[in-house]
Amino acid sequence: MEILDAVVIGAGQAGLSASYHLTRRGIAHVVLDADAAPGGAWQHRWDSLTMRDVHGIASLPDSDSPADEAGRANAVVPAYFGAYERAHRLPVLRPVRVDRVEPAGELLVVHAGERSWTTRTIVNATGTWTQPHVPYYPGIETFRGEQLHTVGYPGPAHFHGLRVVVVGGGASGVQLLGEIAPVAADTLWVTRREPVWRTDEFTPEAGREAVALVEERVRRGLPPASVVSVTGLALRDQERAAEQLGAYRRHPMFTAIEPDGVRMPDGSLWPADVILWATGFRPAIAHLAPLHLRSEHGGIQLDRAGTTAVADPRVQLVGYGPSASTIGANRAGRAAATGVARWLAQSASSAS
Ligand code: FAD
Repeated sequence: MEILDAVVIGAGQAGLSASYHLTRRGIAHVVLDADAAPGGAWQHRWDSLTMRDVHGIASLPDSDSPADEAGRANAVVPAYFGAYERAHRLPVLRPVRVDRVEPAGELLVVHAGERSWTTRTIVNATGTWTQPHVPYYPGIETFRGEQLHTVGYPGPAHFHGLRVVVVGGGASGVQLLGEIAPVAADTLWVTRREPVWRTDEFTPEAGREAVALVEERVRRGLPPASVVSVTGLALRDQERAAEQLGAYRRHPMFTAIEPDGVRMPDGSLWPADVILWATGFRPAIAHLAPLHLRSEHGGIQLDRAGTTAVADPRVQLVGYGPSASTIGANRAGRAAATGVARWLAQSASSAS
């Protein structure tokens, strides 16, 4: 039976960065990726998202990120990742969807359907895209219109002449309203909390402070908040038309969903054709359940370096919590390779 030193699960920014650093250290590993093609979650982003719209894609280690500003993000980033995998000969196998990771004494067994890999460590890099989150509201199942999540956003033309409720106070809610409001009959923006608008320029210091806040949560074993949720919101030029239409007048959450619309806290009904849930994602970590990594607070507690699971140091998590951005995922890849090397050295010395 072949025993690998590491299995990386997921080949997005985080998984590729981890694989690059494992390769540099000469650590025998494979990368298992559920998608049929390179690109991580980027290959699934909506067509209207251009490279100019994204906040910036951090370069993968030892490469330059794509300069194509006008191109579609769902084409440019996958092409960049694919070229990177080939240039660095990263050992990616796809499509392989991991179902579960089980402990087997000192080792871990990674299962994907009929196939399995035995390894000393894993680096989990499965992102959040496969776990769209839709909160429950009374009557949600009775709505006669259409309900969509950002994960399936079909582009602005789909909303032409419709009455659209956009739920969620994050960056995607703001961006999608900017596209939908100019073509829809009307929009209603509802959020649980008053949105926090950034009044100053987004600086690297502000970014670092935001990441530090999420890091602190994960160190305490709490479920991570999204990094964007703590950086504040800002309108870009392409959102000014929607702003003038009043699309960014925020309303409190509806109290219930009815067949023809949403019931507002003041008792009025807002008739709606579509509810668009821009309510975020959760970490895709169900396959790790047999390892019992969750703390009593519901999150996976990570050590101070930010990638090693406190409950089982054979497990590294990258792209989780504070590292859930392209720059964070990149750095986490290096930290994870260090964590893997540390574990391998420790177990080798305790065996001798
Ligand atoms: P992903 O890119 O999601 O990759 C995960 C990989 O794991 C996928 O290839 C998937 O197939 C695979 N996988 C999942 N489950 C399994 C499984 N069970 N078995 C095997 N493989 C599996 N960040 C920025 O820095 N700048 C931005 O402008 C920006 N814009 C964003 C816009 C949107 C709409 C969203 C949702 C996020 C944005 N982010 C941005 C965040 C950023 O995209 C992510 O933090 C980062 O790309 C995630 O990389 P990742 O490698 O962790 O995950």
